[in-house]
Order: sequence, then C-alpha cells, then structure tokens
Amino acid sequence: MILPETKHNLKISLHGGHSGEFCEHAEGTLRETLEAAVSAGFTVYGVSEHAPHTESRFLTQEEIAKGWDIARLQRNFADYTRTVDALAEEFSDRIMILRGYEAEIVPTATYRAQMWGYREQRAPGDPLRFAFDYCVGSVHYVEETVIDYTPELYTRAVEQCETFEAFVVRYYSEVVKMVTTLEPQVVGHLDLYKRFAERASFGQERLFTPRIRAAAIIALEAIRSTGAILDLNTAGWRKGLGEPYPAPWIIAEANHMGVPFCFGDDSHKPADVGAGFPEARDYLLANGVAEIAYLIKEKGSQKVTQRRANL
Ligand SMILES: [Zn+2]
Ligand SMILES: [Zn+2]
Repeated sequence: MILPETKHNLKISLHGGHSGEFCEHAEGTLRETLEAAVSAGFTVYGVSEHAPHTESRFLTQEEIAKGWDIARLQRNFADYTRTVDALAEEFSDRIMILRGYEAEIVPTATYRAQMWGYREQRAPGDPLRFAFDYCVGSVHYVEETVIDYTPELYTRAVEQCETFEAFVVRYYSEVVKMVTTLEPQVVGHLDLYKRFAERASFGQERLFTPRIRAAAIIALEAIRSTGAILDLNTAGWRKGLGEPYPAPWIIAEANHMGVPFCFGDDSHKPADVGAGFPEARDYLLANGVAEIAYLIKEKGSQKVTQRRANL
C-alpha cells in the first residue's frame, strides 16, 4: 500500500471504530463504520473497541439497562475479535484495517495481566488472547471512579482527591503508570480530565497550574520513553469542549519534546468517521506540529510499524 505524501495522509485514524454491536454507548455496526471509512477515502483505519470490564462494580447504567453482565461483555468482546478479524480480511483490498482495542486501567490490581493478555498469541479455547495489532492506552478512571461518563461521577472522582489540582495530578500519575505498564502504541485523549471540568464548576483557569503542567510533562516523558503516539482526538469538539484532546499547551510541550501525534476520530457511529480531521490538521499546524505519525503493517509482516509523514 502506497501512502502519498499529500493531504491524503489525513485519511488515517488510529482511535475509534466503536460500534453498537459491542459497545453499549455506540451506534451502528462495525461493517457500516468501515464502509464509511472506505467511502471517505481512508487508507488505514485503526479499530479500538473498549476492552470489557471484568468486575460488575464497573458496569455502566446503559449496560445494566441492557441486561449486560460481565459474562455478556466478555462474549461481546470475543465476538468483536472475530468480527474485526474477518472484516480486516474482507476489506483488505480497499483499506488496511488495524485490529486494536482501547485498554482500561481498572481494576487497579489486575488490569495489567488482563490488558496484556489481549496482545498475546491466540490460545485454543481462550478467545480473549487475540494477538491484537495494537493497543490504545486510555485513562478513563481516577481512583477507580469513571471521569468521562457523567458530571456526577466526575465530581465524585475530583472529591476523592480533595482538590481539582490534586485530581489532575493523580490523573497524570495514572497515565504514567498505564504507559509504563501497558506500553500502548497510541495514548488516547491525553487530557480527558477536562471533559466535565466546566460543567462540574471547576473553572477553565484552574486547568493550568504549575503543578498540573509539571505532572503533564512527567506523563509526556513516559510517553516519549516508550515511543507511543498521542492521538489528536477530535471527540473534544463533538463533546462541546471547543477544542479537541489535547489542549494547545500540551500540543506545544509534546511537540517540543518530540512526542508525535496521530489522528483519532474516536468514532462511536459511522457518521463520526473522519469527523473534524481538516480542522485537526489546521489545529496541529497552528500549534507548531509539522508531521503526522501513523501505524501500518508492512507487507508480509504481522507487526505494526510507526511511520511519519508531512502534514
Ligand atoms: Zn466509548
Ligand atoms: Zn476513550
């Protein structure tokens, strides 16, 4: 597959492809999403369905309302692995599908083994060992409380840390631990902690203290040391934040440190495919980023390789 050094490089997303078949807060089928990616001219599309919860205390209200329990989530994820495998093969003459998953960091005590297991070679009778092509490492929890689901739970997560600043510092320490523990190829929505900051009355100005900046830089150093890519995640715009993830000051720090960016549409329905990519390109350029990173499987190789192209 030849990837021209032109604007066509915008047509690569490494975070998204969540679908209503396997995820309680997504819509449409994975096939519909991949058809949308082909129609939009994508050359590489990374699918990163959420890893399933392993304990019932983490089930969401929607999962409970659908009657999904832990066993059902595990079955859904096993179905996902088979479906993405078959579709990657079926679509292979039109688009390169990378088979991935979005890792979770809960339960704190056991996530490492669980998340690594998905990347290990397949084992007979163990559908959760799948040899995924890559992993998107995300932090959706602080102190095991979810931070991107409702303002109420977000507020609880902040209050567990006593101050907003301590909450963000704790968030970044979770990022450092996740990155060094899981060594993901892509780190998702790096400043997700801003998701409900405004609505939960934690003012925008409090997102920029010296301690928060120092904690973010430590996280960026961990990301650089493992060679991971940050996703420029366009969901921030769709969530009404007025900017994508991450914020301009983080882009500037990351760029200065040599941490690369890829695009992630974080699609949760077919219509999200490629959403905001032209704006994302302008945003990166405006913040001094000149190159985009991506992953690709070389011909005959089972492993992904990181490449760069001019924006
Ligand atoms: Zn999701
Ligand atoms: Zn996420």
